[in-house]
Parts: sequence; structure tokens; C-alpha cells
Amino acid sequence: MRTRRLTASQIDEAALLLREGQLVAFGTETVYGLGADACNGEAVARIYQAKGRPSFNPLICHYASAMAAFCHVRPNALAERLAAKFWPGPLTLVLPRAPACPVSKLAAAGLPTLAVRVPGHALAHDLLAAFGGPVAAPSANRSGHISPTRPEHVLEDLDGRISAVLDCGPCPVGVESTVLDLSGETPTLLRPGGVAAEDIAAEIGPLRHGAPPGAALASPGLLASHYAPALPVRLNAEVLQPGEALLAFGAPLPGARTIFQLSARRDVIEAAANLFEGLHELDAKAAVLGLTGIAVQPIPELGIGLAINDRLTRASAPKT
Ligand code: AMP
Ligand code: MG
Repeated sequence: MRTRRLTASQIDEAALLLREGQLVAFGTETVYGLGADACNGEAVARIYQAKGRPSFNPLICHYASAMAAFCHVRPNALAERLAAKFWPGPLTLVLPRAPACPVSKLAAAGLPTLAVRVPGHALAHDLLAAFGGPVAAPSANRSGHISPTRPEHVLEDLDGRISAVLDCGPCPVGVESTVLDLSGETPTLLRPGGVAAEDIAAEIGPLRHGAPPGAALASPGLLASHYAPALPVRLNAEVLQPGEALLAFGAPLPGARTIFQLSARRDVIEAAANLFEGLHELDAKAAVLGLTGIAVQPIPELGIGLAINDRLTRASAPKT
């Protein structure tokens, strides 16, 4: 695949590519984002694949307006206030998902919260408005590389791995958005960025900095920023044990009664798109069906399969 370089006059083409589930990098005031239709799980899975991310982190969903963003989350008074003051702009708000939120579970890495932002860059806004829905976008670089602030940086890292980059010029802010978690009792600064913490505090009062107390003590996969199922997870299962539900990949193991199929055709992109849906669904059935655990059929350690296995391995870590 050749990566197309699109200009401001081709925004409709960029929006069409997004609608088709393809990846389009675009500039915002912070850094270039690697965008995909946030409601399309397979498109979101392709973001992780293109970045070569070894694990699933929750992604920020970008919206054309605060009104659109606040349809997908449950805003509180603080969120309304900060949105009025700093949006459009480099501030990301983490809020509880709205009950009928159509954003793919993979975009939020399975969490009950969603990170939303209305970027200030005029072309980014036009792209979001032309597309007409949320665009999930982490920084448009390969995992472990630095964030791109020019279209050339994006191409250096991702040429041939994404459909297009929309040339939005150099990013004026050049650092990532500030991430503020408003889903708990105390507003918590998860990442410093383009909007200064003091300016936020001046609006809404004191902030807590960093992860909530105790988060660092939890097992991997149980951090507040990571979803993990309540049922124990067993990887690379060849035989089912009594009481286990099956997370299937391909033809299900014999004897399975409760099955969630990740991908019947053994496609890792489809499996990634379904992963959190499957874990949530089996967890929800645990009490009713008396399930004792989740057995997972072997998933190849290739491409995004690595990230799937990483998340499942974390989910299977002993819970202390
Ligand atoms: P990036 O997409 O690379 O700019 O990074 C997004 C940042 O937002 C990361 O630090 C994520 O951990 C954070 N983030 C996104 N969604 C959530 C969420 N639902 N809860 C907590 N943090 C989030
Ligand atoms: Mg990044």
C-alpha cells in the first residue's frame, strides 16, 4: 500500500477513507494523530497494527464539537466548564461512557471510561466535521518513536502502513494534549500537556497529579487505566477444564458450552476488534452460569496477535 499525501482541498477524500475503515494521519495543534473511525473495531485494531504497539492502550477520541463529544460520555459540571474554557484545544477529558456510546470497546481498551477531545486545528476540525463521527487517534508514529509534528515525520515512520496523511502543516503546540480524568471524585491529571495544570486548577480548583493512590501497587493489567476481567484467564488452552468458558479463535475446542468467538476465520484484526467485547460478555455471564474461568485458544504471536496475547497475559496475572 502506498501512503497518499492529501492536501486541504482533499478533506472529503480523507473523510471517505476513514468511512471505509482505513487509517488517515492528520495534524492537530498538538502532534499528528493516526486516525481511524472510532466506532469501527477493525479500523481501530489497524491503528495498533500500524503502530506496532505491543499492547492496547486506551486511545483519545476526537470530535468536531463539544456537543458531539458529550453525546458519547456523561459530562459533569467540571467537564462542561473546562470544555467551555479550553475547547477546541489541547485538553483531553476522561469521562464515563454514555450508556449507548457507539465507540468500539477496543478504542477505550475495554475501560468504562472514554477520553474525548475537540482539537483546535482548523483542518483537523474540518476533517472531523466532514467525517461526521468520532476519530480515535494516538500519535502517528511507530511504537517507541517520538511523536510527529510534520507530515514528513509521519511518512518516515508509517509510509506504506497507512492509507493517507492529510498535510496540516507543522503542529503549532508540538506537545501532546493534557489528559485530565474527571470520572472519579477528584480531578486527576494523568498527563501534562498543551494546557497548563495551573490554568485548569484556576478554573476548577486543585487537581491530583498522577494515578490514584494504590494504583501502582496493583498487578499488571489491574491498574486503573487497564481493564481486566474478573474471571481468571488461561492462555493457549488445548483442552477445556470443567466450568471454563471459551474465548475461541477458529474452530472451537470440543466440549465448550459457553463460547465467545473472536474470529472464526482466524483473523487477528477481527479478533482484536472483538477482544474486550468477549471478555466483558463472558465476565457478565460468570455468576449466572457458574463459570470458573476463561480458556483462550492459541492466538499467533504475529502482528497485533502480540498485543492480544499481551493483554490476555496481564489479565491472567495473579490478582493480589
Ligand atoms: P496518545 O493516544 O498516545 O496521545 O495517549 C493517550 C493518553 O490518554 C494515554 O496516556 C492514555 O493512557 C490516556 N487515556 C486515554 N483514554 C483513557 C481512559 N479511558 N482512561 C485513562 N486514560 C486514558
Ligand atoms: Mg504517542
